[in-house]
Amino acid sequence: MSRRLRAPASASALDEGRGGAEGFRSTRDLNRFRVVSFLREHPRASRVEIANELQLSTATLTHIAGELMELGYVCEVGTTQSVRGRHPILLELNRAAGYVVGVEMEHLDCCNVGLFDLGCELVCQREQHLRSTGPQDIAAAVGESLHGLLAESGLARDQLLAAGVSSPGVVAADTGTVVRAAKMGWHDVPLRRVLEAALDIPVFVDNETNLSALGEYRYGRYRGSSELIYIDVGPGVGAGLIFGGQLFHGASGSAGEVGHMVVQADGPPCICGARGCLEALISQSATLRWIDEQLAGGAASALQREPRGGLGMQAVYDAINTGDALALAALERIAFYLSQATSSLINLLSPSIVILGGEVGTVAGQLAARVAVRLGSVGLTEAARMTPVVPTSLGRAAPLIVAASLALEQVFSIPVFNIRS
Ligand SMILES: [Zn+2]
Repeated sequence: MSRRLRAPASASALDEGRGGAEGFRSTRDLNRFRVVSFLREHPRASRVEIANELQLSTATLTHIAGELMELGYVCEVGTTQSVRGRHPILLELNRAAGYVVGVEMEHLDCCNVGLFDLGCELVCQREQHLRSTGPQDIAAAVGESLHGLLAESGLARDQLLAAGVSSPGVVAADTGTVVRAAKMGWHDVPLRRVLEAALDIPVFVDNETNLSALGEYRYGRYRGSSELIYIDVGPGVGAGLIFGGQLFHGASGSAGEVGHMVVQADGPPCICGARGCLEALISQSATLRWIDEQLAGGAASALQREPRGGLGMQAVYDAINTGDALALAALERIAFYLSQATSSLINLLSPSIVILGGEVGTVAGQLAARVAVRLGSVGLTEAARMTPVVPTSLGRAAPLIVAASLALEQVFSIPVFNIRS
């Protein structure tokens, strides 16, 4: 079979009826993605094994497998050897049947672009310098990067199925518009449209914190926790909410702005116009300001040796790891305010787990432990008091992989492909 496969030319054509970037149109779409995901983790499996594991009827599995084989994404690879009587045929994911692109924009001066196969294995990646954070400059940089990656891998452009983008800011995932991203200077930027025009493949965009939450749900140590809150603590504070195994975006896409929960009445002013927001108290700049005040007041700390006004969070994290008293007091202070917001989130949403990550990564374990202790003494129910608070188990490369996974998820939730003979 020499069919060449290609997803529809525009993701926009797929919008109708879609609730959010990770939403599936139907149970069948979801099951198609589940079968592909299963084959990603279990390289060879029989139809019966897959049906049993995913609790699908044999008829449903046979139909989905047939559809995926027709499209070339799954192939038959012989039979099991040691079964008496019947020899079930094994199925395998054809990882090279198509490729997806992951794009991550964590920094202002560069973006990270990776090429992944259908098993979500990285083929190659590169960091591309950004001339500016203007959407057209970003599209040009991603296009240039992709050109280089295709040359490096020997792949052809028509082997690309889709791209997933991890974007800062508030993202309307259903349209791929970045409603607001202060650090990029963006307001209502139609990022998906701009990138689709430049790359000529369907593009799916979601907020970086949402994608981190999705990454924890799909690939983290606590994968499968279908009621999960991921809190990113770094330059700002944000959360990704997974409920019923789906990302929760809210009506406008801005759900999860936990940084703007008020945790101190009449506290310091926040960029949102309120006072005492969590972010105004524990953002990196707020923490550094607090440490500077303590140092100016004569607090003893190894951080005294840092250049005046040039203290960075990495030095603080390093000092925490060496047991510096002031740095630990700063961590305690972050835990104090963070636990107040987390307590409210737990009372409101009843998650099964809260995961902390972001730039706080190297001390996320210590922070999580402190928050958990504080939560243990408050909460309406035993379940609320005992809600686990844990550090992220995913590395810093996670956003790129999850961006690619977002694209894969979409590819396999698309019921109709253009099949070119
Ligand atoms: Zn605020």
